[in-house]
Amino acid sequence: MENFTIPCKSSPPIPIVPSKFSNPSEFLPRQTKPTISFSRKTLPKFTDSHLNYLRKNGEFTEAVTVLDSIAKNGSKVTSTTYMNLLQSCIDTNSIQLGRKIHERIDVVEELNPFVETKLVSMYAKCGFLDDARKVFYAMRERNLYSWSAMIGACLRDQRWKEVVELFYSMMRDGVLPDYFLFPKILQACGNCSNFEATKLIHSIVVRYNLAGCIHVNNSILAVYAKCGKLKWARMFFDQMDEKDGVSWNAVISGYCHKGETEEARRLFDAMSKEGIEPGLVTWNTLIASHNQLGHCDLAMELMRRMESCGITPDVYTWTSLISGFAQNDRKNQPLDLFKKMLLSGVQPNGITITSAISACTSLKSLNKGLEIYSIAIKMGFIDDVLVGNALVDMFSKCGELEAAQKVFVMIPEKDVYTWNSMIGGYCQARYCGKAYELLMKMQESDVHPNAVTWNVMITGYMQNGDADQAMDLFQRMEKDGKVKRNTASWNSLISGYLQLGEKNKALGVFRQMQAYCVNPNSVTILSVLPACANLVATKKVREIHAGVLRRNLESEVPVVNSLIDTYAKSGNIAYPRIIFARMPSKDIITWNSVISGCVLHGLSDIALDLFDQLKKSGFKPNRGTFTSIIYAYSLAGMIDEGRQAFYSISENYQIIPGLEHYSAMVDLFGRSGRLQEAMQFIEDMPIEPDSSIWAALFTACRIHGNLALAVRAGEHLIDLEPGNILVQQLLLQSYSLCGKSEDTSKLKKFGRDAAIKKFIGQCWIEVKNSVHTYVAGDRSELCSNFLNSWLQNIEEKAKRHDFGNELCVEEEEGGISWVHSEKLALAFALIGSPSAPKSIRMVKNLRMCGDCHRMAKYISMAFGCEIYLSDSKSFHHFSNGRCSCGDYW
Ligand SMILES: [Zn+2]
Ligand SMILES: [Zn+2]
Repeated sequence: MENFTIPCKSSPPIPIVPSKFSNPSEFLPRQTKPTISFSRKTLPKFTDSHLNYLRKNGEFTEAVTVLDSIAKNGSKVTSTTYMNLLQSCIDTNSIQLGRKIHERIDVVEELNPFVETKLVSMYAKCGFLDDARKVFYAMRERNLYSWSAMIGACLRDQRWKEVVELFYSMMRDGVLPDYFLFPKILQACGNCSNFEATKLIHSIVVRYNLAGCIHVNNSILAVYAKCGKLKWARMFFDQMDEKDGVSWNAVISGYCHKGETEEARRLFDAMSKEGIEPGLVTWNTLIASHNQLGHCDLAMELMRRMESCGITPDVYTWTSLISGFAQNDRKNQPLDLFKKMLLSGVQPNGITITSAISACTSLKSLNKGLEIYSIAIKMGFIDDVLVGNALVDMFSKCGELEAAQKVFVMIPEKDVYTWNSMIGGYCQARYCGKAYELLMKMQESDVHPNAVTWNVMITGYMQNGDADQAMDLFQRMEKDGKVKRNTASWNSLISGYLQLGEKNKALGVFRQMQAYCVNPNSVTILSVLPACANLVATKKVREIHAGVLRRNLESEVPVVNSLIDTYAKSGNIAYPRIIFARMPSKDIITWNSVISGCVLHGLSDIALDLFDQLKKSGFKPNRGTFTSIIYAYSLAGMIDEGRQAFYSISENYQIIPGLEHYSAMVDLFGRSGRLQEAMQFIEDMPIEPDSSIWAALFTACRIHGNLALAVRAGEHLIDLEPGNILVQQLLLQSYSLCGKSEDTSKLKKFGRDAAIKKFIGQCWIEVKNSVHTYVAGDRSELCSNFLNSWLQNIEEKAKRHDFGNELCVEEEEGGISWVHSEKLALAFALIGSPSAPKSIRMVKNLRMCGDCHRMAKYISMAFGCEIYLSDSKSFHHFSNGRCSCGDYW
């Protein structure tokens, strides 16, 4: 064990101890009252006794008059009589009297440090610390009592740093604290976490052999523990000759504060072995720390053990358990505990009631909340602002705004939380007008609205669909409200616009936020990223990624997961794979994001390889993983493996397959042309197939040219989505192709007009960081001769390169004279630039037709560029004459 005497490096140096302390054995606790002898030769004895008489009878005004006449006569009073008078000022808390007596200090026969010290105490105890300081610093001589009085005064005012400064000054003055003063100074050191001063005191205690006093030792130990210096605390503790319950509690609570509950529990067990039974405080410390770490069940077990040891839990034990369970969202448990507590006869305090109410809030249980409300009223907690706030919050979240309003009015001293809960309640119930009225009232009250208040209002208006009002408040917040906008204010605006479907406005606000140098946080990133999950937002995704790196948010797994997903959806699979490989900690969502990204880009072999790695890394695949994996097998044409994966979901992972898995299975069979198997699979499904299943079969039939089955699937689709014009259109084409009369068909009931409604194809393309729109149309109107001949040339070449035999059921109008928007976009991208661009990214509103798909494949090969196109149905990545969809979409 290391030598525990601390080298004293800090200034001031160890003072020369006054001679009376040179022999430590003389260092005994002082007597509480000074014994001073006075010479009373010149003093008429009756003056003192008269003053004492007046003082005892509370006739202070008279006493002051007597003091004045004594001064006039040129006589004096004893310091004891004078100090007694000052004590009366302290007892009656009368500063006026104190000042009058101070003014007449010249009347004291012999002015000594004790008299002045009493003056310091008088001012301090009457609450006039500045005056106390003035007297203290004007003293010609200060002894241990004077320093103790001044330190005591600062301690009462919680001026921890000043106490430590006073300690240093007294050491410079050559005065050493005693057994009583050291713990007080140490208390201050603990409260302002002054580790250096503590080490100095520790060294003084060792050097002057004061280490025998357990009270001082416990104080040193407590500060080390409180400052989080566990190593020091433990060394000190281990070297203590004598330990009591306080010592054990200090070291145990040190470990608890650091979250090291295991060591705390080990010490706890050692404590009883050394013959000191853990008391209520020890048990409560341990229970509270388990709760704070979210280990409620261990805490509960501890309480049971505590009871079996014969120690009755008190209000702190119960409250810590109740709030622990409430914060960990343990449904009914906090309320059950609350009931047990009442049954055991322990009276709750404000925090107990508050925790119980918030448990009702998270349960949205108004009935239970009302029960606790009545208990709170009975026990007189209704004035407690914490209880009131919890009630307002509960009633508003349960939609009981009237009740919330009633409680709100009753809270005598509302704080900012009270107002915010009520305003939030109105906003949530979409009474933005009422909320606004309250905001105005709040501005007139003593409580100033804070950023939370404004943010709640902004979110409220946004949820109400009133973006203009929200924007107006956002702008007024700083100007009128004098409240600085924070990240959450910007987030409210961004997520509001996104909820209203205004992606571009949301992204605009996000840009503006950065222009204003407000740091986005993970909430911001997680809301803006999905808005960029399309092929014409690649630049934005990179921009956000740079923001993530700048703000050091790359350690937050959900943020990085979202980045992986968004990059993949915006046509970049290289970055997600790099980011994935570099991530130090991953969760199942990370794996799912990268796997589904690979499947989206047609990289089935990589997806399946990742699936193997996932299992080897000890992760348990979930529903999302299996959906991607079946699609990967489908892309790779591995029917048996896909089927095996599907059956393993329930057999090996105890997950009941959902519609998404069945749909993927239909894709698996359909893609490889096993249409009868697909149909059989649908018929054997234990759950009702939804439109996604029939749509998958419909696609399969279309691609493999099975008209009869296509009509069957289409009819199922139209039953499920009768209003879907797209399905009507496709079905209509199928009928005409197989020569079935429309009149006998299902379509009849929808009428012809709706069914033949044309779709106008539109296409968005990103060129040099700006997005252009192309609309399909008549060739003769749209195109120049040059463009027409260019397109014709490419189309003819493309036809020679393809051998597709698919059924031409198209969503979009076709024909020789008609040109589709993606063809136009491609033509402009290629003709417009001197050299072919490396990559072209497009988004299309309709399903791509076979003709355009063929042309895109040809262009990717002939011009050596990557074409990314997401249509209403699939994601296509054309590269070197092939498409990631495997010509199946
Ligand atoms: Zn087309
Ligand atoms: Zn494709």
